[in-house]
Amino acid sequence: MFIIFGTRGREVNERSGQFNCPNCCSQQNTTTDEKKQKYTQIKIAKYFTLFFIPIFSYETLGRYIKCNECNNDYNEKVLEYVPPTFEEQIASYVEQELKSGTPISMLVNKLKAQGFDEQQSTNAVNNVVKGNIVSCHQCKMDFLKGVEKCSLCEGRISG
Ligand SMILES: [Zn+2]
Ligand SMILES: [Zn+2]
Repeated sequence: MFIIFGTRGREVNERSGQFNCPNCCSQQNTTTDEKKQKYTQIKIAKYFTLFFIPIFSYETLGRYIKCNECNNDYNEKVLEYVPPTFEEQIASYVEQELKSGTPISMLVNKLKAQGFDEQQSTNAVNNVVKGNIVSCHQCKMDFLKGVEKCSLCEGRISG
């Protein structure tokens, strides 16, 4: 009789647990490090097969983490992922706006329009600006250092 043996790659569910899925967290606006999504850790292993039936794994080719909710695949490091806090999210929004050329005072007003009070808005902006201010010579608007052109009057800015 013929004995047919060979090898084949196979995915095995190794374990499961709770984690912070970067995709689900950003969609649900999760800002705590409470691990909410379920994951499955999948091992890709090379199996020794006998009559096409996997008998035992002899080599691990890799592992990945699958989110049970959105089905995204991640590197194992995702298990350590902590979503950014509310403050961190604001800071990155403020930084983005300032770098794209939004005048400092306008950004403060923008934040206030979104429901922050004067103090919160000013602090959020100041924490990012940290005194790195440049002004437009023509309209006297203040910008984050690094902005080269005034978005209001098109004037050139220099510190
Ligand atoms: Zn997910
Ligand atoms: Zn200007």
